[in-house]
Amino acid sequence: MTATTHHTDHDHLRTALEETRDDRRVLLQSITAEELLAAETDPVIAASIGSARRILQEVEEALARMDAGEFGFCVHCRRPIPAGRLEFLPHASGCVPCLQSQRRA
Ligand SMILES: [Zn+2]
Repeated sequence: MTATTHHTDHDHLRTALEETRDDRRVLLQSITAEELLAAETDPVIAASIGSARRILQEVEEALARMDAGEFGFCVHCRRPIPAGRLEFLPHASGCVPCLQSQRRA
């Protein structure tokens, strides 16, 4: 993937998001009843299930924003999210300053 042309579409990011979504779906579907039970007492298992669910949700929201033509804009301040951040984290919902101020709040 080269960055020499300036695409306004996000085809490769959509592909990356769909791969992450499918990954997490498979992972979540592979969770057994025993693991769900273990998660109630094991914070490590609980955290890994929780993070898979959270990422799946964030990825689905990002794909929905893509369909709505709102992808790439911070959901908080509506400013464009830097391309480098989207390459690194395609399901990012906001820009770094907004997420930092949210964490402080
Ligand atoms: Zn923002």
